Amino acid sequence: MLSAEKLVILDRDGVINHDSDHYIKSLDEWVPYPTSISAIGRLNRAGFTVAVATNQSGIARGYYDEATLQAMHDRLTALVEDQGGHIAHIAYCPHGPDDNCQCRKPLPGMLLQIQQQLGLESLAGSWMVGDSLRDLQAGEAVGCQPILVRTGKGAGTEAKQVGLEKARLFDDLAEFVNWLCGEAA
Ligand SMILES: [Mg+2]
Ligand SMILES: [Zn+2]
Repeated sequence: MLSAEKLVILDRDGVINHDSDHYIKSLDEWVPYPTSISAIGRLNRAGFTVAVATNQSGIARGYYDEATLQAMHDRLTALVEDQGGHIAHIAYCPHGPDDNCQCRKPLPGMLLQIQQQLGLESLAGSWMVGDSLRDLQAGEAVGCQPILVRTGKGAGTEAKQVGLEKARLFDDLAEFVNWLCGEAA
């Protein structure tokens, strides 16, 4: 059975792919970091399970639809599988900030969905990797170890120096994976 410490939950925009202040609205605008795709494969080979939890309020705002989001996630899945990797579950929140849903980060609803999907009793000790404070807050709410990467909005999040007391910082996902797999070896 999967142990919580062997689960890595990733934010999407700014961690796996380039972020945009204007939302990622089409498949053409979804541009992955190649080093992040290969890092997911390395995590899998080191025995980690990888899941994704992504706020996608652009759906509620009408900037793109769920079919477009699915096309992005199909491409992500294909690129990762080309590296011999696998994403166990992609959770997304399609709601806006005023919808009062339970899934939009900083709330931990998507993480709990991943927990349930993977049959874990707890997420205590799992890893939550993000570029925004709300990613880390969602993780910390359910006992995940918070990781901030400096890609995407991460450098700006680091500069604010708020809420990062428990976080470890890395330049990007690949650097975190190097560290984690080194630790695990
Ligand atoms: Mg992000
Ligand atoms: Zn939601």
